[in-house]
Amino acid sequence: MRWRFAEVAKVFGVLRKGVDPRRINLHGLLKKYRGTVVMQEVLSRLFHERMDVDGAGDVLRGIQCGIIRVEITAAGPLGLSPRGEKDLLMPNWSNAQVRDRLRSRLMNERAVLCCLKCGGTKTFRVAKFTELEVACRFCKGRMMACSREGLREMLEKWVASKEKSDKNRMNRCAEAIKRRGLDAVLCLMGRGIGETTTTRLLRSVPPGNLDALLEAIHNAEILYARTRRFW
Ligand SMILES: [Zn+2]
Repeated sequence: MRWRFAEVAKVFGVLRKGVDPRRINLHGLLKKYRGTVVMQEVLSRLFHERMDVDGAGDVLRGIQCGIIRVEITAAGPLGLSPRGEKDLLMPNWSNAQVRDRLRSRLMNERAVLCCLKCGGTKTFRVAKFTELEVACRFCKGRMMACSREGLREMLEKWVASKEKSDKNRMNRCAEAIKRRGLDAVLCLMGRGIGETTTTRLLRSVPPGNLDALLEAIHNAEILYARTRRFW
């Protein structure tokens, strides 16, 4: 609306040429020119050139008669945010922006390592992991489980747990960290990705292939989002 108004207003001589449309007082101008030929032209351009109402009608008719197939995909991150009430589409993985966003989100997570021997913890930012020595400050133990910092209490509880299944999971987690380092940490930062999924993802992606790993994490997150609506 703003851009169309500026465009038309310049033609009509209402605005000076070279005025930045971002800086005009749109509200005031709309009020002033309501019902005039200027507004008629603005709306006409908006509806007939920009919005392509006829084209949209064609698409709807195409869907109705089956020429266009509608495919329902998993909800995107926006649709899952507390503010989003409606599902938005998850952008395709081939989109470089999606990849970059996932990488920077995971790299910027804060994570915690928890020593399996004494329960001592160490927090860090994922991007700094490679500079970090994976060893307990207190007992020098090298078996350390990892999770997002937000799950710290859970992690500590699991590490302290006497349950065999918890012990196994924490062992698998520490093994993965020891074997695959940052790869494993990145997996564990993924939403809904626990030790079991991490082990599976790491098995499916050879070391040193960050792109493939990110794609695998992305897919696992979609799968999780599909089965559990809310993160
Ligand atoms: Zn320790």
